[in-house]
Amino acid sequence: LARRFSSAMAEEVMELQNKQAASLWHPMTQQRAWNAKEARPPAPVVSSAGSRLQRMDGSTMLDMIAGLWCVNVGYGRREIADVAHAAMVELPYHAPTMGSPQQIELAAKIGELLGMEAQVYFSASGSEANEAAFKIARMYHALNRDDPAGALRYKIVSRQRAYHGNTAGAMAATGQAERKIGFGPQPPGYVKVPPPYPYRRNPKLTPEEHVDDVVRQLEDTIVYEGAETVAAFVMEPIISGGGVLVPTSSYLPKVRAVCDKYGVLLVLDEVVSGFGRTGAMFGHQHYGVKPDIITMAKGLTSGYMPLGATAVDAKIFRKFDGCDGVAVPPHLAHLRQINTYGGHPVACAVALKNIEIIENERLVDRAADVGDYFVKQLEEHLLPLPYVGEIRHKGLLVGVELVANKDTKEPLPETLSAKVPASCATDGIIVGRNGTTVPGLANVLIFAPPFVVEKPDCDLVVASLKNAILALP
Ligand code: PMP
Repeated sequence: LARRFSSAMAEEVMELQNKQAASLWHPMTQQRAWNAKEARPPAPVVSSAGSRLQRMDGSTMLDMIAGLWCVNVGYGRREIADVAHAAMVELPYHAPTMGSPQQIELAAKIGELLGMEAQVYFSASGSEANEAAFKIARMYHALNRDDPAGALRYKIVSRQRAYHGNTAGAMAATGQAERKIGFGPQPPGYVKVPPPYPYRRNPKLTPEEHVDDVVRQLEDTIVYEGAETVAAFVMEPIISGGGVLVPTSSYLPKVRAVCDKYGVLLVLDEVVSGFGRTGAMFGHQHYGVKPDIITMAKGLTSGYMPLGATAVDAKIFRKFDGCDGVAVPPHLAHLRQINTYGGHPVACAVALKNIEIIENERLVDRAADVGDYFVKQLEEHLLPLPYVGEIRHKGLLVGVELVANKDTKEPLPETLSAKVPASCATDGIIVGRNGTTVPGLANVLIFAPPFVVEKPDCDLVVASLKNAILALP
């Protein structure tokens, strides 16, 4: 990191901090605290390299959450900036109804990485990618001549603890109550089922029986809702922000079978798990299932530009062809969904370069390898400590669940769980935690670093965590 802090900059930093407190609305933060003299907002971030960020006051941070689970290839990739510059000079914008070479190449590349014949719809974020997926699922059923009652299908089934975004539909599909409180009634037609959570399963059940139990609850829910009213089931292959809930390998195939049985589309939200995060290019590729719709964002560009994508199995896409004899008038039988910035040519150029880096540097394998190393260290040094209930992971998506009592698994109260990331922050390490205001559920530390994170960095994190946990009362 090149930037050096000079004392002359102190005044500039303070001025920006004052402006920040007065004018910038930070989400997830009670900014009132910043009005107190002694508690200023953090110094703005100004530069970055690899796995590290630097603040304007010269301090550096090891970013173990890759921004917001997105900077997969790491910070400071000049080659991506160069591509963005060239693309912007050439073609700064085109309407989404037109195609540019980079947009077309990216759509084709996504299909290739998924290993399926897919048609890709672009948007600008993960929320929008999910929003589009839900609309496509509903409209597919209305256009599906093989299912004359398809227009009755509109319900979206999703899971407790899942996060799918902040727009109306994606928020409604989100299974975290605190993301909705204060925002008024939610759109109707969204139904929740529990996810597998082997650590907190009924102790009378084996992990496999537990999975069978949650899959049965999914099936029962579809049946009791009226299967002919259900359009899609949406899930993250691994619940990420909700606490890194890793299923047994049998779960996803069993879910696929239930969806097939009732004509329900399977939508996989790969916004976090896509592009190598779990040690496979896409999370579902660990489980040998073929989804109907896959949504992605974040790692698609490693966060260098905003971009979302909804990849749809070609057999679904083919129903959107203005065919006769369906519940929708033929002139309306196409996807009537547009995002001004969807598939922005600069973002698509960046995504292609980002994917090239992931492939050329074999970063997916690296995520798997470093993830295994990190977890081995965590298990060796943290698992014996008090409060450390379970360590879960897939690739570089890692969760450490803190409990007040290892036998009863009572969650560690929020006040104590919060002390761990706060302590790591004083060591210059950014550690995530499952965001929730629901008492008793904010007890999972989360790690999703850039794939270029070094093993010695992982050691630093383990040491910092150990100190933080040992210091808990
Ligand atoms: N799905 C998942 C699994 C996510 O983690 C997120 C973002 N944290 C989203 C969707 C929404 O993405 P965005 O913030 O880009 O709208």
